[in-house]
Amino acid sequence: MRVRALRDAAHRIRHHALDMGEVQGQGYIGQALGVADILAVAYKDVLNYRADEPDWPERDRFLLSVGHYAIALYAALAEAGILDPEELATYGSDDSRLPMSGMASYTPGMEISGGSLGHGLGIAAGMALGLRHQGSEARVYNLLSDGELDEGSTWEAAMLCAHHGLDNVTAIVDVNALQADGPTAGVLRTEPVTEKWEAFGWHAIRVDGNDIGALVDAFDALRAHRGSPSVLICDTRIGRGVPLLETREKAHFMRVEEHEWQLARDELAQGRDVQ
Ligand SMILES: [Mg+2]
Repeated sequence: MRVRALRDAAHRIRHHALDMGEVQGQGYIGQALGVADILAVAYKDVLNYRADEPDWPERDRFLLSVGHYAIALYAALAEAGILDPEELATYGSDDSRLPMSGMASYTPGMEISGGSLGHGLGIAAGMALGLRHQGSEARVYNLLSDGELDEGSTWEAAMLCAHHGLDNVTAIVDVNALQADGPTAGVLRTEPVTEKWEAFGWHAIRVDGNDIGALVDAFDALRAHRGSPSVLICDTRIGRGVPLLETREKAHFMRVEEHEWQLARDELAQGRDVQ
């Protein structure tokens, strides 16, 4: 039941992302479809928050350092009840609270302004130290991309979190094997990712990031871990759930033709039927 409900939530997140993408005709749709399962599990099963009080001091913090994934987070915030789903139609428009890159001052539930990559984990470390100092039970999550593993600042923050034994920090790495300049393996080799985090003193688990059951089990295990920060490394597929987008060559920033949006929604619906 738990997994079935989360699959339904992931489906709605993907559907929202396609609808928002259609407003602009292009965008980071592939990443949004790829992380929908992670966000569904995070917002419907893991995070502690109050939908009607986004600034509740005891909330778990979810930091989106990949600001260009904002389209995915807006969809998840709508699923979480923090945003009204009707507002999603304003995505990227003038005067909208939902800009194309995540901005903390614009959007309820958006904890940081991301987009300048490699800063999320450093902010997470500072927040986690502060929360520990206050005696808070709140946890800090940072969703980062495999491209952000190219950033030295990510590893500085990783060292800092381990040094201070920040077991209230969980990093979630979206390993979609792609970044702006091409396949991650060709731009700057980051593998073996799990062993690198372990060498930095982190408790690491690697899962198929599109397998809801595996994500639920992994988050359960991480929540129980004490003594060091933890990282969930998630292998995801760009465009997941929509074959016509899964196979698109230029996948980092996708241009989708006007007639393709309905096809994409149809493919998403077909995939759901065979689940
Ligand atoms: Mg990537």
